[in-house]
Parts: sequence; structure tokens; C-alpha cells
Amino acid sequence: LDAEEFRRHGHKMIDYIADYYNSVDKYPVRSQVEPGYLRRLLPETAPNQPETVDRIIGDVTSHIIPGITHWMSPNHYAYFPSSGSTASFLGEMLSAGFNVVGFNWMSSPAATELESVVMDWLAKMLCLPAQFHFSGGGGGVLQGTTCEAILCTLAAARDRAIARGSDISRLVVYGSDQTHCSLKKAAQIVGIPTSNFRAVSTRFSDSFALTGASLDRAVVADEAAGLVPLFVCATVGTTSSTAVDRLLEIGEVASRHKMWMHIDAAYAGSACICPEFRHFIDGVELADSFSFNAHKWFFNNLDCCCLWVKNPAALVAALSTDPEYLKNKATESRQVVDYKDWQIALSRRFRALKMWTVIRCHGVANLRKFLRGHVRLAKVFEGLVRLDRRFEVVVPRYFSTVCFRLRPVRAVRTGDEEVEEEIASGLNRRLLESVNAEGRIYMTHAVVGGVYVIRFAAGGTLTEERHVRTAWLVIKEHAEKLIDDVDILNW
Ligand code: PLP
Repeated sequence: LDAEEFRRHGHKMIDYIADYYNSVDKYPVRSQVEPGYLRRLLPETAPNQPETVDRIIGDVTSHIIPGITHWMSPNHYAYFPSSGSTASFLGEMLSAGFNVVGFNWMSSPAATELESVVMDWLAKMLCLPAQFHFSGGGGGVLQGTTCEAILCTLAAARDRAIARGSDISRLVVYGSDQTHCSLKKAAQIVGIPTSNFRAVSTRFSDSFALTGASLDRAVVADEAAGLVPLFVCATVGTTSSTAVDRLLEIGEVASRHKMWMHIDAAYAGSACICPEFRHFIDGVELADSFSFNAHKWFFNNLDCCCLWVKNPAALVAALSTDPEYLKNKATESRQVVDYKDWQIALSRRFRALKMWTVIRCHGVANLRKFLRGHVRLAKVFEGLVRLDRRFEVVVPRYFSTVCFRLRPVRAVRTGDEEVEEEIASGLNRRLLESVNAEGRIYMTHAVVGGVYVIRFAAGGTLTEERHVRTAWLVIKEHAEKLIDDVDILNW
């Protein structure tokens, strides 16, 4: 397409997407197609001759949209939100349009410098200690995902330990039984023996937070066995139940045992730009690195993970490459950041453009307002659940996600708790499947401490209070049908 054709089709495409946003609540949120549906609809070989953009858009409408689970729907409450926004979309357009491959400063100075500037802006919004700012010797980088951020920091920690004389077969990585699976995967990739991965148990009574005492017990036992504690990943806002690990206690254990401490605040980190939620990351001053996903709850389209480190040299030592064809005066001057040395891949997108656009289009005050608004929506939902004695909120709600369920029923005369729990799990499973199959809303589940819970993750960019209230009616409607079906009414 030449520039004029691009202009014409580009306008059409924006109209198409704007119309999609205006009507996205009309689609079943979770796609209803069967596996293999698309292969049956598309030709077996690629077209030999050009096709028109109009035809392609027609196929998007008829073939692609039915197979989309609508993450941008105001009725999407599954997983964590993917809080894309139109402001971010505009930034993405610039990024796709310029299509720079900003691996080092020289390959596109603005890509590197804008990224450093917005990462310092964000560090200030989060009140991160000075050591995480470029001016304080640290710095931030935009990665694709938290998986990459954890992998990079773990590689840095590993190489630092090896440089100090440790044997990789003795290095141990710690998280909790609630830590995201990306930590285990990263440990596997960087060569930590599987037997040296610890998922420290959490308890219902601690609201599933990793505590300093339980971490310390695991570390002391490993040291006694001749192993070397390497890395602990603490989480602020765990995936299953949004638990918040005890950062101050963990930081104290980490520094006593000379471990690298990473804080994974993938979902909840963004909320901490609001002064009233900042306390959730108290203790970040003790960490070596901190990350959150701007594509989860900070109005940036996928992908955009913000990672800060106190010691970029450790990242660079583990990840830098220096082929002849990339040598240049700027790098040699040591006056610039070459972000290729802070990440896995060489090539990198100009992600800072979307973050910059989001922050500037809304301003920090409004971003705080949006985040507070989502927390308020979750509170509304939580209040509705609490008013209905057939349901219960299972774990404390800190942010914009509510974990709830139909209570265990007294269906069994023996009053056997285990049997009651089993019945409750079965009922909640059926409730969730029934709600999702219908498609008016979409939620997902978790199992915490053996309890099956339904997660209601508010925080979609287009979600308003009326959507949340309707969602609750939908849930109640399905629950009532289910209760009628199984003929269990003795709540
Ligand atoms: N960490 C936490 C706490 C998460 O909830 C998630 C995803 O939900 C991840 C890490 C993984 O994030 P990503 O897909 O960006 O790697």
C-alpha cells in the first residue's frame, strides 16, 4: 500500500476499531467457538494474488471476531484486566509507524532516551527510592512481560553469584506457593537445578502472604545443607488471590543471607502511584529489582512491563553482547544506555511512545482517579456479595479483584467439612462454567489453600458501575438456577 492508500485504509481501520469499542459489550465475552473453527473457514494455501483491504476487514468481522475473547469488553472480569486504552493505541500507532529497532542508543536515540525519561517519571510516581532512578545509579527499562523481567534479573543474580565463586548447582531460588509460575520457568531457563526451587508454603491465616519467618526457615535449612540462597521473588498482588507478601520481613531475610530480592507487582504495582496504596510496596527500598505490568492495570496495550534495577551493571554483565557490527562511538563513550544489554532479545520496540502518550493524554491525577475508580467498583461488587448470605468473600480484597464463592452447603447430615468443601467446589465450578458459557460476562477461577474461588477482576478500561451491578445480577441468576437444579436450598 502506498502512503495514500494507507491513509484511506488507515482512516477506515480506526473507524472500525472505534465502532468495535462502541459495540464490544454486544459480543459474548468469552469466545464461543470450537477448536479448529478457523482452519475450516480459511483457504488451505496463501493467496497468490493481492486481496483488497475491504475483503480482509470483511473476513475479520465474519471469521476473526467470533474467535475473539473480548478482553476490551466492559464485562470482562477474567484473569487480570488487559487495560488497553485509546491513548496507548495512539502511541502504538506511532511506534508501529516509525518501526524503529532500538537495540542501542545509536539505533534510535529518541527510543532510548524517551524510555529512560518515562521510567524516571514512573519511578517518581511510585516514590521508588533514588537508587532505582538513573540519577541514583539505577534505572528502568520497558520489557515485554514480567516473565522476561524475572528471567533477566535472575540471570543477573546468577552471574553475580557465580562471579563470587558459587557453583550453580548449589544456588537456590525462593518464592511462595502463590508466586507466579514465571519464577519457576525462569529458574529452569537459567540452569538452577529443579531440586533447588522452593515454593515456600503460605497460610490462610496470613492471607496467603509469604512471611519473613517462613522464608528464613527455608533458607536456614538450605544453608545447613550446604546450599547457597540466590534469589527471592516477593509478590505484591498474587495471581490467584492478590495477596501481598511481607516485603519488609522478606527484605531483611534477603539482605541477611545476601540474596537478590525481586518484587513482582505485575498487577498491583500500578495502584501504588496512589498515595493511599503506596504502603503496599513499603520495603521496596530493600529490593534489588521491582517490576509491574503496565499492560495489566496501567492503560497500556500489551506488551509493556516496567522493570527497575538498582544495579544495571549486574544486568549488563549477564546480558550484554558486543558484535562488531553494533560497535559505535556512543557506546564507546559510555555516556548512553544500550537497552539491548538489559533484556533477552537484541531487537526492541519503541514501547516508551505508548507509555508517554498515556501519561500525557491523561495526566497523573486522572490516572490515579481511574485506578481508584476500579478499586471502588471492586468494593461495590464486594458489598453486593457480602449482602447475600449464600455467597462469601474468601480472602481480603486489597485492590480491584474480589475472590468469592457460593458458601459450602449443609447438605450432608454428617456435617463433614471435607465433603461440604467438595460440594462447594463442584457448585462453584458449575456456576462459573454456566456464567461463562452464556457469555454476558467472563470470570475465571483460582484454588487458594485448597478452596475453589471465583475471581472477579474489575479494572477494564470501559467498565462502569452499571456493568458491575449487572454482572452481579447475572451471577445470582445462574446461581439460583443451579441451586434449583441440584435442589439444595438449605443455606
Ligand atoms: N506475575 C504475576 C503476579 C502475574 O499475575 C502474572 C500474570 O498474570 C505474571 C507475573 C506474568 O505476567 P506476564 O504475562 O507479563 O509475563
